[in-house]
Amino acid sequence: MRVVTIPCLKDNFAYLVIDGTTAAVVDPGEAAPVEAALAREGVTLAAIWATHHHADHVGGAAELMAARPGIDFVIGTHDAAKVPAATRQLEDGGEVTLGTLRARAIHNPGHTRGAISYVVDDAVFTGDTLFGAGCGRLFEGDAATMHASLAKLAALPPETRVYFGHEYTASNLAFAAAVEPDNVDVAARAEALVQAAGTASTPSTIALERATNPFLRSTAPDVVIAAMNRGVSGDAISVFGAIRAWKDAFRA
Ligand SMILES: [Zn+2]
Repeated sequence: MRVVTIPCLKDNFAYLVIDGTTAAVVDPGEAAPVEAALAREGVTLAAIWATHHHADHVGGAAELMAARPGIDFVIGTHDAAKVPAATRQLEDGGEVTLGTLRARAIHNPGHTRGAISYVVDDAVFTGDTLFGAGCGRLFEGDAATMHASLAKLAALPPETRVYFGHEYTASNLAFAAAVEPDNVDVAARAEALVQAAGTASTPSTIALERATNPFLRSTAPDVVIAAMNRGVSGDAISVFGAIRAWKDAFRA
């Protein structure tokens, strides 16, 4: 498997997942940069894999499909009603193939009801559920739902590469440092990001997210204290909810 990152729109990432000369595109927010990447890589598009129904993740699908009648357009079952062009729905654990590759869906509701991540080999494509040092907003789910969804992703092998849906890592790390000022891994990640300025911060790894992402750290002592200082009890879901609400209002 090869993965090619395609910046789209303002700060979105689409990805080509390539097996030989065949590719799937994850979250084509617009068609033109995907077409350019396909031409550059010399590969044929066989499928569209969407993580959720938002327009900045599926906006390029119609144009890509019009040029290639019959290709698969995959989305999570509970988002499918909002994307009538989708040809295939995946439940939790459902699979699609691309050549010799197998992509397995993890249903991770919270950002949207039907949000899914795709696990392919040692990579996971998380859309707007898990970001670099952050997570998506709770548009269609509550804190308990999103907390459970993120726990599923955090349980993937630590070396799993995390390909996320937006370049938000720098501002997310500023928030992470506000939550855990003494977290040396957060500080090191922020410094590494500065050193790599101008390059995309995707992918990260599950290990790095577990060490630096406050939304995967609802039981870390300093995160619990930061949440309790905002008036909630110390259980993991209340902590997660308080940190999420804090981030919604946070300006670095
Ligand atoms: Zn979204």
